[in-house]
Amino acid sequence: MARIVMKFGGTSMAGTERIRRVAQIVRRQQAAGHEVAVVVSAMSGETDRLVNFCREAHALYDPAEYDVVVAAGEQITSGLLALHLQALGSKARSWLGWQLPVRTDDAHAKARIETIDSPALLASMAAGEIAVIPGFQGLTADERITTLGRGGSDTSAVAVAAAIKADRCDIYTDVDGVYTTDPRIVAKARKLKHVTYEEMLELASVGSKVLQTRSVSLAMKEGVRVQVLSSFIDDDAPAADTLPGTMIVSEEELAELEGLDMESQLITGIAADKNEAKVTLTRIADRPGAVAAIFGPLAGANINVDMIIQNIAKDLPETDVTFTVPAADLARVQALLAAHKDSIGYAQIIANGKVSKISVVGVGMRSHAGVAATMFKTLADRGINIQAISTSEIKVSVLIDEDETELAVRVLHTAYGLDTN
Ligand code: ASP
Ligand code: MG
Repeated sequence: MARIVMKFGGTSMAGTERIRRVAQIVRRQQAAGHEVAVVVSAMSGETDRLVNFCREAHALYDPAEYDVVVAAGEQITSGLLALHLQALGSKARSWLGWQLPVRTDDAHAKARIETIDSPALLASMAAGEIAVIPGFQGLTADERITTLGRGGSDTSAVAVAAAIKADRCDIYTDVDGVYTTDPRIVAKARKLKHVTYEEMLELASVGSKVLQTRSVSLAMKEGVRVQVLSSFIDDDAPAADTLPGTMIVSEEELAELEGLDMESQLITGIAADKNEAKVTLTRIADRPGAVAAIFGPLAGANINVDMIIQNIAKDLPETDVTFTVPAADLARVQALLAAHKDSIGYAQIIANGKVSKISVVGVGMRSHAGVAATMFKTLADRGINIQAISTSEIKVSVLIDEDETELAVRVLHTAYGLDTN
């Protein structure tokens, strides 16, 4: 017997037929002999609808009241799933965020979970009752409702799994796992059997949006084993216990698993992110403090700077500085830089929103040289120009023209041997 957390996203909860299907999947897991807690999202589109009502009510709405409104979507689906389970003959009950409670800080609309009280929950599960928990919801120390930020149900599920020391947290979603790259770009993309927390974090942060990034950091910190798998399955589909999806695990566990099935690969995945913009400031003075004068104001405005390059011009005491920011922040960045023109002291701002960041990710590159060289050569052979480069221990990223995104991903996928036959 194991203790399993199952999480279902908005598409799986959209309407009576789908919730009944979810109830059947949950019952099957319980019938396999497990204690089961289920975490659910609101029906797809519902949270957007509720957010809109808040906007219509008040242009500068109070985030505490926004949380009261948007937390309601998950309250509905948790009650409905409990009803469907009961209708099929199971013992089930809902546990709302404030009932458990899920304690969070008071950062309304983007709260962080601090603790989850588990004794009552565990007692009910041990008595054979299926626990249905609305994701996304929490409660502050002074008893106000909070929500965890959009997509937060994934984080709720991982936090519940950590609190009840679950053997596994299964995230049921509309894809059947994590792929080597976006299958819509590369038809030969392969489903990964396993990926490490760190790789998943890199892939998520560079645009493969299967899980909320925060849920992956939490799983890594708490050592929760997470499986991503499809909720659209037939009755004769392989059981979740046979791990049909993608397992997200620690590097140690990966080594054991790969030792068994020899899946070992240098590069795990390739991600593309079109939501970047490039900014160049020309003719910055080559002296201490010049770069600090640029990035201080951006940090003050909470703008995430990603890649940074600085070139020293040959004979001049001047440099050009190029960096990337989220495309959505580009207008704000340009305004801030213009406002600080005198303190920074540049000649010109050149901005380009038509770039994309391509990243190759894999823990295997820690112990292997030549990953970056392969990337540069492969892109060069196709005449793709690299505008900026950044690296971490397990990732190499390049910035290229946005129009060349699909081509770049495809040729790299082949070059690293990731194509299925
Ligand atoms: N319903 C919330 C949202 O749409 C939380 C979630 O689904 O994860 O963002
Ligand atoms: Mg989601």
